[in-house]
Parts: sequence; C-alpha cells; structure tokens
Amino acid sequence: MDNGASHGGEAAGTRPRSVAELVASLPGSAAALGRLLTFVEQGGERAHEVGRALLGRGGNAYTLGITGAPGAGKSTLTTRVVGALRAGGHRVAVLAIDPSSPFSGGALLGDRVRMVDHSLDDGVFIRSMATRGSLGGLAAAAPEAVRVLDAAGFDHVLLETVGVGQIELEVAAVADTTLVVVNPGWGDHVQAAKAGLLEIADVFAVNKADRGGGRETRRMLRDMLRLRRTETGGWEPPIVETSATEGSGIDELLAEVDAHRQWLAAQGELERRRGERLWSEVERLFLLHVADRSRALAPFHGSEELRKQVLAGETEPWAAAELLAERILPAAAPAD
Ligand code: GDP
Repeated sequence: MDNGASHGGEAAGTRPRSVAELVASLPGSAAALGRLLTFVEQGGERAHEVGRALLGRGGNAYTLGITGAPGAGKSTLTTRVVGALRAGGHRVAVLAIDPSSPFSGGALLGDRVRMVDHSLDDGVFIRSMATRGSLGGLAAAAPEAVRVLDAAGFDHVLLETVGVGQIELEVAAVADTTLVVVNPGWGDHVQAAKAGLLEIADVFAVNKADRGGGRETRRMLRDMLRLRRTETGGWEPPIVETSATEGSGIDELLAEVDAHRQWLAAQGELERRRGERLWSEVERLFLLHVADRSRALAPFHGSEELRKQVLAGETEPWAAAELLAERILPAAAPAD
C-alpha cells in the first residue's frame, strides 16, 4: 500500500520547505497540505509553528461532525454528503478521525480514496488522522487540522469518527454542527442515549431506512429527546431518514444541516460557540502544558517511601497524589 498521500513525503533531493513556506503555498499545493497536517498530527514544536503561521487566516470553513456507533453507515453517508456538497459547488475536506492506531491511517486512507470516487477531484480532500500517541489526542490536533484545511480553501470540513469510545463525543467539541447517525430498530437509539450522543446531536440521521422501521425510530428518538434534553437553546434537532447506500434523504439531511447553520448565525450563536470552543481549546492545552511541565519537575523523584506507604495501605492514593502535587506546586491550594 502506498501511504505517500497520507504522509506528504517529499521527493528525494528537493529542498525541505519551512512551515511558513508550506503555509504560503496553500491553497493549491496538496503536498504542502499533507505535510502540514502531518506536523499537526505529530504535535510538538512544529505543530505550534503551523499554528503561528496560520494566525489571522481562515474562519471560512463550516465544520460538520459525523458521529455514531461503528457500522451505522457514517462512512457511506459521508461519501454521499461529499457528493452532494460537490454538486453544490463546494470544496470539501474530510478528516476521518481514527483513535485506534497510528499505523492504520495510510491503509484506511487508501481504502477510502478507492471507495469515494472523488480521488481525482481536487475539490475534495480526504485524510485519516490517527491521534493515539500525540499529546492530547484529537482534542489537541483536530482544531488545528481544521484551521489548516480552512486556510487551504475548503469551505466545508467533515469530521468523521472512526472507531469507538470518547472520540464520538469529542468531535462535537470541534464541529459547528454535529450529525449523529443511528439505525432503525429497537435498541440503537437507546445505545446512542447511553453513549451520550443525544446531548451532542444537532441533527439526526436514521440511516439504513431502506430496511424499514425508520418512522418508528424517529418517533422513539423524538420522545427520548423530549425527556432527556433540558437545554436545547431553542433548537429541536431534526431527525431525517436516510439510505446512504441508495442515496435517499441526503438532500433533506443537508437542508437540515444548513437550517441549523442559519439558526446559529441568526442567533449570533455561531460566533459565540466558536469563541467558546477556541477558549476551551486554550484551557485544554493549558492542562496539557501543566501536565508536561509537572513531569519535568519530577515529583516522583524520591517517592519510594510514599510508594511503600500506599502499597502497605497506610496512605490512600488521593492523599499520596496530593503530597506529590504539593512538592511541585507549593503555592497552589488544592481545589475543592
Ligand atoms: P461506519 O462504520 O459507521 O462508517 O459504517 P459503514 O459506512 O462502513 O457501513 C457499514 C455497513 O452498512 C456497510 O456494509 C454499508 O454498506 C452498510 N450501509 C451503510 N449505509 C447503509 C444504508 O443506508 N442501507 C443499508 N441497507 N446498508 C447500509
């Protein structure tokens, strides 16, 4: 499998370009785009350089998060959404966020490029992003990756989750509109509720509606939403039946996404929420920074005695952790 596209490798003999030069060649250079995303994915000083070079650029891309349980049809649906947005003249980037393995990225990308029929279309960019191993994972890398894609001139960025777990929820922290994909039938929407997906959904797709049962699932979802959602801010998440394999319901789905966008804009919510997301990004990065610096201060150095006490059941873990924290944060009062 040729992973070159996902890693933006530079041909032998060419002069390595600086981050600023790479950023300056956006939009237009897919190779520069690939390399910048790799830097962001890897984190560290070069990722920060990318952030600095992008300051003051962008702000035009609309981000749509697509999340739901594995097998719900997110990938097939994303392909359809890309097709519909392209038909509307948009430039679309897809970031498939895969937390499971840093090594699956290339293979996954290859599969997807074959799958989506858009591989020769320069108005479409598809990239999987593995976040395990990079400090802060998706939370740290995804907003920066969206800014890179924005600067590259994509007016829509789709963030699709691949895999399971916390990642399904984290995507909402990056997206302007969050689309939750469920399937017809008893149980699926209950699982979605358990996973916390009802709270983050701005729009629902009941996908695989070609199998029947879509209407009942819509009704059950609607009932659950009434019971569970306390703070909708006035927006009632619409529920659209789709068949990603047959291509039905896609236009209606995009119309609802657009309605959500218009609603956000009309309320002044789009700017407010983007501002909030940006500041919570600062908060998350601050905590990462503190954790990183704390390790460098080596609070565990010389903690053998404390370890013995914990193992002997003489000191509880919480108290031990507090003692370690006090070694490096003498001025900070514990929060409670
Ligand atoms: P993901 O794991 O959520 O990305 O799901 P995929 O897009 O990979 O789809 C999982 C399986 O469901 C595949 O076999 C798809 O062909 C199938 N599938 C996706 N959408 C539909 C649909 O609308 N109807 C039916 N019948 N099958 C679908």
